[in-house]
Amino acid sequence: MLSNNVASYIIYNKQDKGAIQMIGDMQKWTPNVAGIIEHAKEIHPQTEIISRLVSGEIHRSNYEKVCIRSRKLASALEKDGIKKGDVVATLALNTYRHLEMYYGISGMGAVTHTLNFRLHPEQAVYIINHAEDKIIFVELPFVPILEGLQDKLNNIQKYIVLCEEHEMPETSLNNAISYEEYIKDGDAEYKWPILDDDAACALCYTSGTTGNPKGVLYSHKSNVLHAQAALTAMTIQPDDSILMVVPLFHVLAWGIPYFGPMNGLKLVMPGMQMEGEPLYELIDQEDVSLAFGVPTIWMGLLAYCRENNKILSSVKNTIIGGSALSLATLQEFDEVHDVNVIHAWGMTEMSPLGTTNVPTPEMQNMSKEEKYAIQLKQGRPIYGVELKVVDDSGNELPKDGKSQGHLMVRGPWILQKYFKADKDAVDADGWFDTGDISVLDEDGYMTIKDRAKDVIKSGGEWISSIDLENAAFGHPEVAEACVVGIPHPKWDERPMLFIVTNSGEPVEKKSIIDFLSDKVAKWWLPDEIVFLKELPHGATGKLQKFELREEYSNHYMEK
Ligand code: AMP
Repeated sequence: MLSNNVASYIIYNKQDKGAIQMIGDMQKWTPNVAGIIEHAKEIHPQTEIISRLVSGEIHRSNYEKVCIRSRKLASALEKDGIKKGDVVATLALNTYRHLEMYYGISGMGAVTHTLNFRLHPEQAVYIINHAEDKIIFVELPFVPILEGLQDKLNNIQKYIVLCEEHEMPETSLNNAISYEEYIKDGDAEYKWPILDDDAACALCYTSGTTGNPKGVLYSHKSNVLHAQAALTAMTIQPDDSILMVVPLFHVLAWGIPYFGPMNGLKLVMPGMQMEGEPLYELIDQEDVSLAFGVPTIWMGLLAYCRENNKILSSVKNTIIGGSALSLATLQEFDEVHDVNVIHAWGMTEMSPLGTTNVPTPEMQNMSKEEKYAIQLKQGRPIYGVELKVVDDSGNELPKDGKSQGHLMVRGPWILQKYFKADKDAVDADGWFDTGDISVLDEDGYMTIKDRAKDVIKSGGEWISSIDLENAAFGHPEVAEACVVGIPHPKWDERPMLFIVTNSGEPVEKKSIIDFLSDKVAKWWLPDEIVFLKELPHGATGKLQKFELREEYSNHYMEK
């Protein structure tokens, strides 16, 4: 673990054995995230929390109400026999109730386990049983999913449906009750417990493509530290109105549910409706100034604006991460909407933030092209996160903007080991292998070239599938692009490009190849282009390249 010492970067590897350590006289700090929502209630009670409900209706709450309802929820859970360390799951959308659960469950000492409603049923059963979830809070539209699974769920004692008493559906779920009835008699004056140092707070499972999903168990301390660091590493202003499209079920929505209330920021949550039109409406009506999301969501929003002559006039900044940002998306945000794009990178194992790409004073004097070239990089590490790139033998590579290798990370909100694992997931010096292939440069910027498993090895050289996808995405007819390495009898692997066009119909392959020709090296050009109606996306919006790789695995071999 990274030491708390302010000079941690210097002393980390020093063998300081035998030295007498003088202990500081400051108060002990064992944080409970509930302190964040109490702070928001005290200082920003009327700041609004906006949610689009399943019905489509817009619901308005505020930090005072969310805090009091979280207290009621915590006391209801306690009355129900839930104890510190018990795991309680949510299968829920981005709404005020999910925010209340973040605080009510974790604040009373239990662990908030967020479930992704797009999970394959088998994975959902595995995850719920592995985590030993005791209660599941479930959004109305997902009740049928759990009805289908409940016979296989080993530990669930109660299902709490996120609705009013009168909205309760007919359901075969055992011990089902509406959320509003459940918290109705809860104690509005509930006092949050003092928790142990490093007490567990929340649990998320990674969307692994092979093997069983793995759990990452965050602590109250790691979440608070991550939130505080995040506030310094993005262009967040106290009067920002935040669009939270990133789901509360995926890596704690990038920490927004913690750093939002910490700074009294207005939160705007889209519920179920994440298509271009409803998102645009919400942004417009709620004066959104800062929007967080993954590239696929923004592609839908930008397409809607393009087709309907709409401008995102209130938005000043957008934070984009989860997959690589493309030049075309960056350009459209900047040139059409005057929105500054901040590229960010992280992962479930990192809570998630590792790097952000905030504007620097030098960038003000650069040409657009120079500025874009920097903005497309995944950014620089935020304070607390250390990065290094190593070769296959673990030797550190120079930070020269060229040397490409395995990206390793270390820091206080990066996991030590997976949930219930016997062994650490880090090496002896605390470094975690991200599985990303990256380059670091002299100015501290990190650029992702690929996932280690997606990089294409052609004739002994590496082709970055991300760079090739981004180049293809710039073609005016291309709505989405995906590049996969397919086994090849001569070259080991060769790239195959899958494209979804704006019209949904194929275009001339030659026009794509011509377009790419001056953007990538000749030997990078895909040997085959396939037009699809849609690309396979996983539960968190990432491209499922393995599906295409499997389907086309013999393509070049058979030729
Ligand atoms: P997850 O744990 O599901 O959030 O996935 C984390 C992975 O997503 C990272 O290891 C990267 O491979 C990928 N990722 C996240 N942000 C970016 C980004 N800005 N650019 C490229 N890949 C990204």
